[in-house]
Amino acid sequence: MSERIKNNKKTHMDYAYDLDLVIKPDSQIPAIGREFGHYTGAGIPLFSLGGGIYRAVLSYILLKFHALHGYYIVETPIIASSSLFELSGHLDFYKENMFLFDIEGHKYAIKPMNCPYHILIFMHEIARYRNKLRLPFKIFELGRVHRYEPSGSLYGLLRVRGFTQDDAHIITPENMVGDIIKSLFEEMKEIYEGIYNLPIEGSNIKLRLSFSDPALIGKEFMGSREEWKVAEENLIKLGEYLNSNYGIKYFIEKGEAAFYGPKMDFIMTIKESSIEKEWQLGTIQFDFNLPRRFKLYDVVKEIYGETNIYIVHRAFQGSLERFLGIFLEYSKGRLPFPLAPIQIVIIAILTGKEDVDKNIRAFSEFLANSLQSKGLRTSILFTEKTKLSIDVRRLETTVKPPLEIYIGEKEIKNAKLSLRVYDYRERRAQRKEFGFQAREEAIDYIMDVVDMLESGVRKIIGECPRIPADLSHML
Ligand code: ZN
Repeated sequence: MSERIKNNKKTHMDYAYDLDLVIKPDSQIPAIGREFGHYTGAGIPLFSLGGGIYRAVLSYILLKFHALHGYYIVETPIIASSSLFELSGHLDFYKENMFLFDIEGHKYAIKPMNCPYHILIFMHEIARYRNKLRLPFKIFELGRVHRYEPSGSLYGLLRVRGFTQDDAHIITPENMVGDIIKSLFEEMKEIYEGIYNLPIEGSNIKLRLSFSDPALIGKEFMGSREEWKVAEENLIKLGEYLNSNYGIKYFIEKGEAAFYGPKMDFIMTIKESSIEKEWQLGTIQFDFNLPRRFKLYDVVKEIYGETNIYIVHRAFQGSLERFLGIFLEYSKGRLPFPLAPIQIVIIAILTGKEDVDKNIRAFSEFLANSLQSKGLRTSILFTEKTKLSIDVRRLETTVKPPLEIYIGEKEIKNAKLSLRVYDYRERRAQRKEFGFQAREEAIDYIMDVVDMLESGVRKIIGECPRIPADLSHML
């Protein structure tokens, strides 16, 4: 057994490495050297074979979810002329965190945020389609951004220089602000519960409201007193609503708002035996800066008449990379079934008796083929009775398949299935047995278990995407 498996004090990067999600920056590949070891950009995660599948499934779920909730889906370039960020003001107040460069005498920036592009798209649509464009306008992107962080502060997936935001901007008339931010909470709850089995309730979530200091509005906090008042009152209203409906508590930090508007952050408390950790997850932020910079107030008034609008930035998982890191620590490397690189492992326990083993192999392959043909990422692990416990332990400390199916002499003789199913709510595995007559019944039974494991995602987007992959070499 390698040192890595023996050591049970794993970090999120060990889990990510075990699952083949990302390549560890410190992978020991001396022949290729430091440049390769750092994977071409220190602090910019590379999603590997398992990670590619994980990202593809997650992206599909998130894109469809947002489309179903009335967001427009866009994809904006990584590189922009720096003039976009001059207009947005980022070059004034965010320059130290930006990657900037010159080519052919032109200045370019790698986008640190998606917002300016989203506003630009809104401006383009409104110029072209005038008031046919509906308000509230909701625009979503899995937006890849890059921000410079000092190399000393980088840490695994938790502190990186390149990441993907589940980023949306909402341009809403004033009279709908309250409904919008309430719907944002409901959407966030659906995502956390549907995809990650993370309940959003008073016992594990609290809200931090970062507000202005009214005396400093117009000085340190930009925008009008009226704007701050409307936004902050609506945030408090949401806090009260969540308190009475979900037992979620909120607290206000006066003077802690960003200069451009108040915000609400969701903080999740994760209890691990005696240790309690707090993670900042989703955020909802008002912005009184960008609409002024892009002259949005004037344009909207010209087109929709006397309408006061508000811009809200929101991200539910924040950075998908950071969220993955947090989740891996929380779940000890156990990804939800729909996102797991290897979803099902069939453990074929060979006996050394030729006639028995022939049946074990044939049945294992029948199951694997049937499940693979349904798009489920299924692999067979051939083992023997004497090696079984070592092989299962290796599986359970590395790949962590949510569903294991054991096929041995007993199962063949008695025509039954032995399953080990990970129960995400209880956070432990459960054993199940099922006797069958025709082998098609065995498949039906396994598919019922799969349905249950996919039900959270199906509930929020009406289906559960299955992207096939043969990652058997990871076993
Ligand atoms: Zn934004």
